[in-house]
Amino acid sequence: MNRNQVLPQIELSSDPKALKGVDLLAPQTYHGKGFLNLQDIPRVAAEAAQIEAGDGFDWEIQTFFDAALAGDPRQKMQFKLSGRLHLVCQTCMQPCLVQIGEERQFIFVADEAEADAFPMDDDGLEPLVGGAHFDLLATIEDEILLSLPLIPKHSEGVCAPVALAFPSGVEGGKDADWEERPENPFNVLKNMKKNS
Ligand SMILES: [Zn+2]
Repeated sequence: MNRNQVLPQIELSSDPKALKGVDLLAPQTYHGKGFLNLQDIPRVAAEAAQIEAGDGFDWEIQTFFDAALAGDPRQKMQFKLSGRLHLVCQTCMQPCLVQIGEERQFIFVADEAEADAFPMDDDGLEPLVGGAHFDLLATIEDEILLSLPLIPKHSEGVCAPVALAFPSGVEGGKDADWEERPENPFNVLKNMKKNS
């Protein structure tokens, strides 16, 4: 029996608040997609060097029951994530654009014990503890955080060398040096002409 053909599919709202309590115990599957601004995901926003228009993440999920497993069919979730934010480049300490594209598959299990016992070598299938009020928003936010580079950096050659980042400082130094000279050579020349 293919249970997916008889179960209703629920379209999730893209409103972030509506994602906080998804009933995974109900006999139904879910599809949903939307865009999260950094304001919707404060734990990710806390990592950002700055927030520019367009920063944020597109997400899409599709759940389905997999009857191939022994015992009761389990709900699985296909998860896609893509987006961008600005992190602090660890080479030059300036904001750098970081783009993320992820695709993962999860399986919902009954409790933490079942999640701990889940074999991790199963094609990257990751267990999540389901429930009647599953916080999908927190899960998406967790996945974004896990996708961030440990050491964000500009591409090679993009960082501004420190000396070139402060050209006015270098110029100013020369000017200051010039004015500190006891006698401007041109004034000396003028005075010599005047006196002759
Ligand atoms: Zn840099």
